[in-house]
Amino acid sequence: MAIKIFIDQGHNPVNPNAGAEANGVIEQDVNYEVGVRLAELLNNNPNFEARLSRNSPTEQLGTSTLTSLQARTDGANNWGADFFISLHANASNIVEASGSEAYVYMLESPAYYMATRILQGLNYRTGLPNRGVMTNQRLYVLRNTDMPAVLVEMGYLTNPTDAYLLSTDPQSFAQGIYNGILMYYGLMQ
Ligand SMILES: [Zn+2]
Repeated sequence: MAIKIFIDQGHNPVNPNAGAEANGVIEQDVNYEVGVRLAELLNNNPNFEARLSRNSPTEQLGTSTLTSLQARTDGANNWGADFFISLHANASNIVEASGSEAYVYMLESPAYYMATRILQGLNYRTGLPNRGVMTNQRLYVLRNTDMPAVLVEMGYLTNPTDAYLLSTDPQSFAQGIYNGILMYYGLMQ
């Protein structure tokens, strides 16, 4: 039986639940592109089966922020996913802030170990700093998923270097996350 990975591309193209925007880069575009590439990598590996929360660049989920988030967790819960990975890109008032970080509901959990591996994979592949795994028990998608869930902030749109890499090389982010998933399951060649 293939391991079912649900990939949520974080936001909607327009409000409600549109994402951050900086340096001419729109978060949902980046999340969408990385998600499509990550799903392709996983679906080309017989050990995995991947689904995306948004299947076209213009697809809107929900009619409010709440129902948009709910559509994502419902998609994973109804499918019976083994893991939920939500893709995001960060924003900060501090332009120097750079790198990838991840959020999980609880430390020392399956999600925590997966997040640790994903950040290692991203850092190795993109060269952006690894800012570590943090807990956040308020994030909707971490609270309302029936399976372990990781929210990945892949880089900072407010940092010109991160924004350039995110918008021009989504494949490296997809490959980094994919390698992290392989490491977590002990499937790295
Ligand atoms: Zn976001």
